[in-house]
Amino acid sequence: MRPKFVAGNWKMHTTAATARQLASAVVRGLGADGRVVVAVCPPFPYLALVGDVLRGSSVALGAQNLYPEEEGAFTGEVNPAMLVDVGCKYVILGHSERRRKPELAETDAFINRKVHAALAAGLHAILCLGETLEERKSGQTEAVLKAQLAGSLAGLDPAHMARVVLAYEPVWAIGTGHSATLEQAQQVHAFLRRWIREIFGEETAAAIVIQDGGSVNPDNAGALLRQPDVDGALIGGASLNAEQFLAILRAALS
Ligand code: PEP
Repeated sequence: MRPKFVAGNWKMHTTAATARQLASAVVRGLGADGRVVVAVCPPFPYLALVGDVLRGSSVALGAQNLYPEEEGAFTGEVNPAMLVDVGCKYVILGHSERRRKPELAETDAFINRKVHAALAAGLHAILCLGETLEERKSGQTEAVLKAQLAGSLAGLDPAHMARVVLAYEPVWAIGTGHSATLEQAQQVHAFLRRWIREIFGEETAAAIVIQDGGSVNPDNAGALLRQPDVDGALIGGASLNAEQFLAILRAALS
């Protein structure tokens, strides 16, 4: 059986003080309950201090991005080894805020380099995928997701896939308060798992964790996480509030 995996994406929020408070509250609230896998992903400058707070707890540390080179003249960038060095287990890659913002415009080919670099360094990659509202309305959801999967996962084998988590985050649901319906989420998650089965085989498809994301909150998390192919959630806004995040973790167990 696949574990439920809930991760908090703090995006470009928090200060050193609030990051420490938030991480402490999550650790305290979760206690030793190991039934749900939990990670928090603070901004780069706070990774080390949040890592200190998480040490010895069951909450893992994740980053929100990396640069796919080992080292060198890449001003402002952070390599995978640095993330491992400060205690990260996970890294979020291919988030729609990086794919779709014109200033960033990350392509599947670039995200694919990041996935390879993350795995080579020993990290687990949380690969985000999702369609826009226009793409959904014009019936392109599966085609868009297929292209994102094929592009971002090119060159990987089933052994690599043991350290890949998928996060289905329809762009129209992120930060909008309009999460995918249970039916929409289950339909897409089942499609993603079928695609993984075709390319990587039954064992990988049965084991891969597929999170849902986009306006997941304490009210909708329980029903969403009971869908057969929804194995967890990537939480943005609600992960900045310890009570809400902990309520989602409790819902994951219901
Ligand atoms: C996200 O951006 O990863 C996300 C899920 O955001 P929100 O929960 O705020 O919609």
